[in-house]
Amino acid sequence: MAKMFIAGELAGALSGQTYDVINPATGETVGSAPKGNESDARAAIDAADAAFAAWADTSAESRAQLILKGIDAVKKELPELSVLLTREQGKPVGDSQREIEHFLHGMNFYAGLASKIRGSYVPLPDNKMYGMVLKQPVGVCGAIVPWNFPITLMGTKVGPALAAGCTVVVKPASSTPLTTLRIVELLNSAGLPKGVLNVVTGPGGVVGEELLQNPKVRRIAFTGESKTGQHVVSVAGSQMKRLTLELGGSDPMIFCEDGDMDKALTAASVGRFYNCGQACLAVKRLYIVESVYDQFVEKLLGKVAKLTVGNGLEKTTRLGPLHTKAQREEIEAQIEDAVTRGARVLTGGKRPEGAQFEKGFFYSPTVLADVPEDARVVKEETFGPVLPVFKVKDLDEGIARANNSMYGLGSSVWTKDLGKARRAAEKIEAGNVWINSLHIGYDEMPFGGVKYSGFGREHGPEALEYYLETKGVVIATPE
Ligand code: NAD
Repeated sequence: MAKMFIAGELAGALSGQTYDVINPATGETVGSAPKGNESDARAAIDAADAAFAAWADTSAESRAQLILKGIDAVKKELPELSVLLTREQGKPVGDSQREIEHFLHGMNFYAGLASKIRGSYVPLPDNKMYGMVLKQPVGVCGAIVPWNFPITLMGTKVGPALAAGCTVVVKPASSTPLTTLRIVELLNSAGLPKGVLNVVTGPGGVVGEELLQNPKVRRIAFTGESKTGQHVVSVAGSQMKRLTLELGGSDPMIFCEDGDMDKALTAASVGRFYNCGQACLAVKRLYIVESVYDQFVEKLLGKVAKLTVGNGLEKTTRLGPLHTKAQREEIEAQIEDAVTRGARVLTGGKRPEGAQFEKGFFYSPTVLADVPEDARVVKEETFGPVLPVFKVKDLDEGIARANNSMYGLGSSVWTKDLGKARRAAEKIEAGNVWINSLHIGYDEMPFGGVKYSGFGREHGPEALEYYLETKGVVIATPE
């Protein structure tokens, strides 16, 4: 059985309970994890609280060195960790490896920034007085992580937190605890002081809820569904905890008549079907200008036909299973709703057939046309391999329809006209706009949403600010 890591020690749940982790490709048990509850979460929070003062006082250089040593420890197990991630999450094993490498890149980025955190000196109107602006770590942070990119999305929280001098309790999604448990253990093996980085597994409504409710936790970094995010705001927000919320998205992509079609086709196909469509920044609505609509859609269908569905451990697989049975049922219900309202299935729209698919939660890559604006696939987030395509008159109609959404995470525009690109970048209501590029998150760039996609930013130097308090100090020079 995998173990949690609390106060510098491997730990089972205080209750002794465990639960099984299921492989979404085969239905088999991958392993088991401790079923932690409030008491386990409290023990981890207490440990993080006890460790905070000393960690905050540790030099930035030493904090960075410890993060770097942790990175080395994880790198040594990269092949085994990649297979484990595929077995519990479902994605192709090459993508698992890329996810862990991305995590390591992000941790390295924040290790580098630790020693660059600085405040300032402020001259005041009375020249016998001056001000100092101090940047100090916020305190104990709860890092609540979803199952779609369990490792990178842990890193976007743990990296800046440790660099800033905060201590952390990680709460992975219940269905993807195993790789996280091992990575937290490896990061600790590099010599982090006990209690600086803890991990507790168990139900979100119990372990996560304790993180939201416990007054010792000063900051919550949450990634997950918008609905859960609303709950996080109501509970943790009422305690004035510092919050960042990385929530759902329904990212539009707009293709103009002068865009590079071959590159855009790859971006649409990878952008929608990567991780079996289970990405917050996936292309979830594709708007194509009418003069090139037919040509684009025909070529897109050719690309989609080449996507191989299968177990993520097989080298040929491009599309693993959906992560859970419920996730697949939700996608099927959303497609059925669209079809009932008049949408046409251009490809897919069903489960793949064959013995190898029977036990897993597989679904064929699907493209829908003629989807009305009131269909669920337009109004809601679709977290699966379904791409609705829409014909629009021009860029302006594309922008207007792109903005007709409760979400505002990512978006992209394909055009060689810089004037149009700039107009789109300014007018699209989203935290991120990619011009002539795949929707992809960079550690160097701030990432986050507007509207129901949340607030606050992860990635980039900007993310560090959310782990730091700004303290103003006014000093009168003694006479
Ligand atoms: P989820 O909201 O169901 O769960 C996210 C995390 O919250 C899990 O660890 C879960 O255990 C925990 N949780 C559940 N109830 C809780 C509670 N009451 N208190 C505290 N924690 C609780 O989301 P999910 O299904 O795991 O993830 C998919 C969602 O995440 C999608 O909507 C996706 O768009 C979003 N997402 C957003 C981003 C982003 O950067 N904006 C990135 C990845 C995923």
